[in-house]
Amino acid sequence: MRLLIVGNGPGGVELAKQLSDEYEVAIIEQEDLPYYTKPMLSHYIAGAVKKEKLFPYSFEWYENKGIELRLGTKAEVIDRLRKKLITSAGELPYDLLVIATGASPREPMIEGKENLMPLRTLKDAEKIKKLVENEGDVLIVGGGFIGLELAGNLSKAGYRVKLVHRGSNLLGLDNELTELIMEELASKGVEFYLNANVLKADREGVFTEKGYIEGRVKICAIGIIPNKELALKSGIHAGRGILIDDRFRTSARDVYAIGDCAEYNGIICGTAKGAMGHARVLANLIRGKEDSYAFEFRSTVFKFGDFPIAIIGETKGEGHWLDNRTKVFLKEGKVVGAVIIKDVKKALELERKIKSRVSIDEL
Ligand SMILES: Cc1cc2nc3c(=O)[nH]c(=O)nc-3n(C[C@H](O)[C@H](O)[C@H](O)COP(=O)(O)OP(=O)(O)OC[C@H]3O[C@@H](n4cnc5c(N)ncnc54)[C@H](O)[C@@H]3O)c2cc1C
Repeated sequence: MRLLIVGNGPGGVELAKQLSDEYEVAIIEQEDLPYYTKPMLSHYIAGAVKKEKLFPYSFEWYENKGIELRLGTKAEVIDRLRKKLITSAGELPYDLLVIATGASPREPMIEGKENLMPLRTLKDAEKIKKLVENEGDVLIVGGGFIGLELAGNLSKAGYRVKLVHRGSNLLGLDNELTELIMEELASKGVEFYLNANVLKADREGVFTEKGYIEGRVKICAIGIIPNKELALKSGIHAGRGILIDDRFRTSARDVYAIGDCAEYNGIICGTAKGAMGHARVLANLIRGKEDSYAFEFRSTVFKFGDFPIAIIGETKGEGHWLDNRTKVFLKEGKVVGAVIIKDVKKALELERKIKSRVSIDEL
């Protein structure tokens, strides 16, 4: 059976890794690089890791695993009737096709948006790295995890960092946790501008509701847009992302979608951990082994410079501190989520307990 995977990100590669012993697997990728880890890009920009370290799998690795890697090849449209993928380099037959095309950075809809740079690919990172090294400071728009990772790593490396965020809370967390994150990063020199919606940008800075903030190197990290063009051109249903059911099936027969490009019940996964989780469950389903993915339950560990934080499950509503590093969230007497500051080693164990729906006394 021939499995074609479009996209060589963590979702696509994990799926290929899982199934290459059992199926004929090919990955189609428009970039011309083997897999690199996006969570390390801000470390690379800050000079904390060398470029080689971004590539965990060599070309030999793909070869030894029997994974055919077609780089520099764009998937254009799926001919569903003939079960062929039409690419920039010709047609490829498939028995099963998995779309793992990821997402693109959300563009700000403002005047002067060309003065803000996105960060998604290694190419983006290389451009940013050169500019920050020349300028010595950076202005980041967006208080999500990508903005905070970048702020943490660049401030650790000695750059002057300003973080501009339109809301009053970071990562969708409550005031108390937002304060803690800000305190931690501010102690490393990050300057925060919250409630500062960016209205316009020019070469020297950004105009916000809170006034003009100077910054020549400006990076925008305000969210992602799932890459759904391939599905749309192929007549496959899409909303915000490519619509899938709980078994990763799209509206087309034998075509699946995983990772950041997929939308299940309004949810876009948005993390490498999620994309790899999708891939592992889909691999089992393709093998004919029963498995399921808990789309609603999200958990990830982020590291903002030297400051790690684990965000597990639902983190809104009634919160209680278990100790000075762990805040848990309750719903109807059960623990439904937690945030762990710094002491993230215990995240896996806590996640397991939360998934088994314990009460706070059972933790
Ligand atoms: C700077 C940064 C830091 C991050 N930090 C973290 C972190 O700390 N923890 C975490 O869990 N996540 C993190 N993420 C998010 C994580 O990287 C993504 O959620 C993850 O990469 C999604 O994986 P994916 O396989 O769905 O898609 P992607 O990684 O986006 O890969 C999709 C691939 O498909 C290719 N493609 C798209 N369209 C086509 C086409 N038509 N034909 C051929 N190829 C195509 C793209 O070129 C791309 O290589 C970070 C992301 C960034 C940018």
